Amino acid sequence: MSDRPTVSLDELPSILEEGRRELAAAADPEGLRTAEQSVLGKRSPLAGLRASLGRLDPSERPAAGQRIERALHELRGLAERRRDELAEDQRRAALVADRLDLTEVVVDQVLGPIRRGHLHLVTQTQHELEDTFVGMGFEVAEGPEAETDWYNFEALNMPPGHPARGMWDTFYLKLGRPETVVLRTHTSPVQIRLMEGAEQEGRLPIHSVMPGRCYRRETPDARHLAIFHQIEGLVVDRHITFGDLAGTIETFTGAYFGPDIHSRLRPSYFPFTEPSAEFEITCTICHGAGCRTCSQPGWIELGGCGMVDPAVLAAVSIDPSQWSGFAFGFGIDRCAQMRHGIADLRSLMENDVRFLRQF
Ligand SMILES: [Zn+2]
Repeated sequence: MSDRPTVSLDELPSILEEGRRELAAAADPEGLRTAEQSVLGKRSPLAGLRASLGRLDPSERPAAGQRIERALHELRGLAERRRDELAEDQRRAALVADRLDLTEVVVDQVLGPIRRGHLHLVTQTQHELEDTFVGMGFEVAEGPEAETDWYNFEALNMPPGHPARGMWDTFYLKLGRPETVVLRTHTSPVQIRLMEGAEQEGRLPIHSVMPGRCYRRETPDARHLAIFHQIEGLVVDRHITFGDLAGTIETFTGAYFGPDIHSRLRPSYFPFTEPSAEFEITCTICHGAGCRTCSQPGWIELGGCGMVDPAVLAAVSIDPSQWSGFAFGFGIDRCAQMRHGIADLRSLMENDVRFLRQF
């Protein structure tokens, strides 16, 4: 027995301790493979110990074998756990690397410094028009874009079947009975609402403008849009004459377009005004000299106007023998088009920032 080299298991605790430390220190999968090789591989101290078991006295072998197996078992478990940890770390790192940083400012390098946006040209134009009219003593009023047939047509002297309804192809909404609720085809319903309210609450006279979005089933082209913006004006007061209307249009034209732009009225027809007129202003391109935009005469049509039909006043219970008034209206989009020389109205709806940034 004494000729066998003694195998001391005294080293086992320090081998185990060293193995634990090496496996825990592995920083990535490659490092872990190296550590496993060194701790559990064929040339590892533990493998050496196991190989020397045969030199032990047979009575000691099972206990020594068990101690070595327990150490191996523990170290294999540690290696497995470390592998899972490293895989999890790697998955997290990949997630972070792939995440889009929404606060990152790349636009700066690509497009130049970020600029704050601004109001759309149509909104700017609407605000300028409102300012001009407010300066002339008007108030600004608004109304709903989905209207009943009564407000959009009937109260404006257009009963069902009236030929003037055919002037506009209307978007009807699937609400209530068929063809009773419409997307308003003009801002005129707000006039009816104003007059009703004023009459009921004793708030006459009225001096108001009504800007807003309107809808007609137009096929969009350079001069027409299915969604467009109007501004209308309404004055109901005592002793209002056609002269007041003409003076108001002329004052507005000079105030908004400049002192060298004038207005003129030409007879026309609208169901809710009598008499009615179209109003034209000096061509803003040629200033009256005549050009292709105005087709030579030096005048461009801007909108319609007229004296409020007494039947319209009566429909909202305003006494036509006491009160009279005038109304006018024109397109805000058209106004912007003329002031800025925009060739095609559709540019206003296409949301191309290269176009919008110019204003
Ligand atoms: Zn012209």
